[in-house]
Amino acid sequence: MPGFELFGELERTHVNEVMDTGILMRYGFDGMRNGVWKAKEFEKLLTEKMQVQHALLVSSGTAALTVALASAGIGAGDEVIVPSFTFIASFEAILALGAIPIPVEIDDTLTLNPAATERAITSKTKAVMPVHMCGGVAQLEELKTICRQRHLLLVEDACQAIGGFYQGKPLGSYGDMGCFSFDFVKTVTCGEGGALITNNSNFAENAHKYSDHGHDHIGTDRGLETHPFLGYNFRISELQAAVGVAQLMRLEEFIGIQKKNYTRLREAVSSIPGVSFHRIPAGGEENYSFLNLFLPDKASAERAQQSLSEQGMGGCFHWFTNNWHYIGRWEHLKNLKTLGRLPQEVRAYAPDYSLFTFPQSDYWMGRTLSIAIRMGWSEEEAERLAMRITAVLRAVM
Ligand SMILES: *Cc1c(COP(=O)(O)O)cnc(C)c1O
Repeated sequence: MPGFELFGELERTHVNEVMDTGILMRYGFDGMRNGVWKAKEFEKLLTEKMQVQHALLVSSGTAALTVALASAGIGAGDEVIVPSFTFIASFEAILALGAIPIPVEIDDTLTLNPAATERAITSKTKAVMPVHMCGGVAQLEELKTICRQRHLLLVEDACQAIGGFYQGKPLGSYGDMGCFSFDFVKTVTCGEGGALITNNSNFAENAHKYSDHGHDHIGTDRGLETHPFLGYNFRISELQAAVGVAQLMRLEEFIGIQKKNYTRLREAVSSIPGVSFHRIPAGGEENYSFLNLFLPDKASAERAQQSLSEQGMGGCFHWFTNNWHYIGRWEHLKNLKTLGRLPQEVRAYAPDYSLFTFPQSDYWMGRTLSIAIRMGWSEEEAERLAMRITAVLRAVM
């Protein structure tokens, strides 16, 4: 990550095709667009790469999560299980529908622990939403078994994991639905964008409509479209889709580069006593966007992070002390702070998040150090970085 490092001629060509028609809207204007439909082209390519029947490109990964849950009829008062280590978007997408996010412990896969997930299920639970964090892989088989037994939906947040696999299936395609982000820092980028994939035609049909004010997208005259239900505007523009088409065509190339740089770094730090690696469940293949290490304890991980940042090495993260991805630092969530009043169901049924504790997550997060794998590194840069990181890690042990 991220795909913007490798922008080139292909991206430019696809964007110019859109500019030549002047039609930046993904729907309608059939006669004026000279057969250029970039959002549709992206969706077709995504269904092929993900080996699924349906894909919908939307305006962001957060939008994809929101639309996915909405398309399955999840709404006010329903509970959705999410991991304690994620991006706040997981919570926002659920809360936007008036539904209730229930955070659950992670383990050494850096996402949902299946036993903790099972314990968190109540009569209100409707879905389980594992997040393949930092390019890793959730324990999908265990989670799917739980979901099947308890009649719950499995929605994969694969926003950080495009290009990874589980049991031969692309990440995102194993559950009932999968979501991707193509924001500016993701492995494949549109600038801003996201997508959901599914093999369920009903969800796909609902998602299409919901992401465009409930419009049915039948026929060529938009004014005559019917709108069977209320939705929202989560549309992508053709310009963003054009960038995405070029980037998605290069997915395998990107993953290959990430894997090479990841492997170089991993080999270098493997020799350090006390360093271990985050667990990829059997049958899984990560997308190599981060190298995730466990140090012996929280203190050594903190020392390593401090030393790396003092040396000006960006892209190394100790998530436990970073404000972005771990629930411990989310005062806005703990106090349910937003603008205006929350929906009644949220006020009535949301648990007091400030009372939750996550001893297992604290244990793993405290020890975790993640190094973002850049695609733009030259051989020399990767080599130099590997040597510097190795020296810092040895010094803090
Ligand atoms: C980036 C990200 C999102 C949100 O995607 P946006 O496109 O930025 O809205 C959701 N979940 C995870 C795990 C992410 O990394």
